[in-house]
Amino acid sequence: MICTVRVLVVEDEVPLARLIREGLTGDGLLADVAIRGEDALWMAGATAYDVICLDVNLPGIDGFETCRRLREEGVTTPILMLTARDAVDDRIAGLDTGADDYLVKPFDFGELLARLRALSRRPPVVDDAVLTVGDLTLDPATHQVQRRGTHIDLSVKEVQILEVFMRRPGEVLSRLQVLEGAWDSGYENRSNVIDVYIRYLREKIDRPFGVETLETVRGAGYRLRPG
Ligand code: CA
Repeated sequence: MICTVRVLVVEDEVPLARLIREGLTGDGLLADVAIRGEDALWMAGATAYDVICLDVNLPGIDGFETCRRLREEGVTTPILMLTARDAVDDRIAGLDTGADDYLVKPFDFGELLARLRALSRRPPVVDDAVLTVGDLTLDPATHQVQRRGTHIDLSVKEVQILEVFMRRPGEVLSRLQVLEGAWDSGYENRSNVIDVYIRYLREKIDRPFGVETLETVRGAGYRLRPG
């Protein structure tokens, strides 16, 4: 099981959508953006999101209608509506159409993040147990990685990739499986990025300790040797 929270951001103001996406990604979440409500409908049908951040004012079908149709189609993903300032009716209408919470624009980013995390299905990351494979440990709550008690400094993305392997020790994972575990859906041309990250990871988690645990399985992918 991979525990990264996956968010669908539905917002037609592209700069704001980008800002939200970058903020979420920077905090270790995965985020996809839909510009229109119609896009959100098929995207939410195709991918299991943990939470949807849905703007009310959208071209085409608006946020309320999008929310209503999502529920109609059986999508039970928690929905946070972004409403206009002081639009009390908006709030009521939002919760009426099946939204779980709302946030008034302009919002504080920390508040948005806290609400999205609270709504997401996944148990809070802080409750996740420390992962251990051999003498390598990864704490999903703090992103701390250690081998033999020595702290290893990794980027957010490196931790996400390592976590995919540490949740399935000994299993051969294809590049696609690693991509799906650690990236959102903008990854089409990134399959050789995996190879690059694997090299970074080996330089940090293996080489300084004189071990070779992150193995290449020719023609299949990669494997983290257990124990
Ligand atoms: Ca909008």
